[in-house]
Amino acid sequence: MPVPLLDIHRQHEPIMERLRGVFEKALETSGFIKGPELQALETEFAEYCGTSHAVGCASGTDALILSLMALDVKPGDIVITSPFTFFASAGSIVRAGGVPAFVDILPDTFNMDPSLLEAFLERHCAVTDRGVVHKPSGSRVSAVMPVHLFGQPADMDAIIPICREWGIPVVEDACQSVGGEWSGGKAGSFGAAGCFSFFPSKNLGALGDGGMVTTDDPDLARKLTRLREHGGSGYVHETVGFNSRLDAIQAGFLRVKLGVLDSWHEGRRRNAAYYDDAFRDLEEVSAPVTDGRSRSVYNQYTLRAGNRDELLEHLRKKEIGCAVYYPLPLHLQPCFAFLEYARGDFPESEKASEEVISLPVFGELTTDELDRVVEAVREFYGG
Ligand SMILES: *Cc1c(COP(=O)(O)O)cnc(C)c1O
Repeated sequence: MPVPLLDIHRQHEPIMERLRGVFEKALETSGFIKGPELQALETEFAEYCGTSHAVGCASGTDALILSLMALDVKPGDIVITSPFTFFASAGSIVRAGGVPAFVDILPDTFNMDPSLLEAFLERHCAVTDRGVVHKPSGSRVSAVMPVHLFGQPADMDAIIPICREWGIPVVEDACQSVGGEWSGGKAGSFGAAGCFSFFPSKNLGALGDGGMVTTDDPDLARKLTRLREHGGSGYVHETVGFNSRLDAIQAGFLRVKLGVLDSWHEGRRRNAAYYDDAFRDLEEVSAPVTDGRSRSVYNQYTLRAGNRDELLEHLRKKEIGCAVYYPLPLHLQPCFAFLEYARGDFPESEKASEEVISLPVFGELTTDELDRVVEAVREFYGG
């Protein structure tokens, strides 16, 4: 019997009737765009994240692009992020007209290393009357985008004060970390804007694409609301925006799921703890490290493993769902060759991309399935 990496159907089974109810209501009312379902989700989602506003949009990628634009990232501006992440973190910067600049990750949490962020700013940047300027290129540095990878927030106790001191807004890429906590605060509540994805395989997944931006700034919320609908209000357009809305039917599905999300997170944490115990004595693998100040929601359970590629093959043969997130760091992507980075520039990201492997961790896994995963890993190392 195969063990899937993720089985969304199992998650949906107990809420199937309520999801059908959402569909039927949408069909009967013909309310497909915006409307009360979206408003209710935005209110509930902001409350869940501990922010005063939330603005729905069409995807996590759009949430990032809209946030960067709303924060006045102009063509050619630099946005700092880390290279060990899903493509959209940097792709969104380019689509917003900006230029990504990378700083490496911490080897334990895979998240942006705050001391490297600080070093980048101190070595290469200066505060001028145009704002913070990157001295070698003369470009403005207009945002920092920490990624909360695999369900665990980046070190917000360090990153937020650095950015405040320099006067650079923070856009959190919280696409993998809805509900994740750092020092008691929720992902998406620390920066100027928090960006979320409702791609079906995320912890809070729609039945299609969707995204959300959280913020405490009412002006930014207003700008975002305009930008997602062609940049105007009514038929007067002061800016050129997008068509990037969250469908009412998806908002309805997401409201049902948001109500049970914390219990799903509990299941993921339980399964992660099960693996942590089971792999403790295996020298060849290291379990994911959670910082003492964080609570991960384990969008992924990601090990570092010796002979990773052979382990991957072994698990696939045993029909154990597994994947490598991410095999090629963003500074080495062909489309970013123009940034002129080279192999060796971000050694921790490069090492992580060679060593990581993610195992099934969704909350509905049975103990029998967990044991089969553990057994297959132990068998590979002969333990
Ligand atoms: C999923 C994801 C995104 C993009 O979200 P989409 O909804 O697929 O556009 C951005 N950043 C990270 C880190 C992600 O995991």
